Amino acid sequence: MNNSEPKPYTTCGLEVSIKHLLLECRQFNEERAKHNIPNSLSECLNNEPLNIRNTLQFVKDTNLYKTI
Ligand SMILES: [Zn+2]
Repeated sequence: MNNSEPKPYTTCGLEVSIKHLLLECRQFNEERAKHNIPNSLSECLNNEPLNIRNTLQFVKDTNLYKTI
C-alpha cells in the first residue's frame, strides 16, 4: 500500500545529485551564498583549499552528508 519511503531532499521535485544540491537546488540558495559556493562543480571540488572548505561546510550545514 504505502511502501514509498520519503526520499531526502526532494522538496524541489528534482533528482538528487551532488551537482544539483551543490549548484542548482533552490532549497540551498541561502547556504550556498553563505559559504560562497562556486558555481561549477569542478570548482567546488578542485584543489583550492578554500573552495573545498566552503563546500564541506555547506554540506555539513545542510546535512547533505547523510544523503551523498
Ligand atoms: Zn533541488
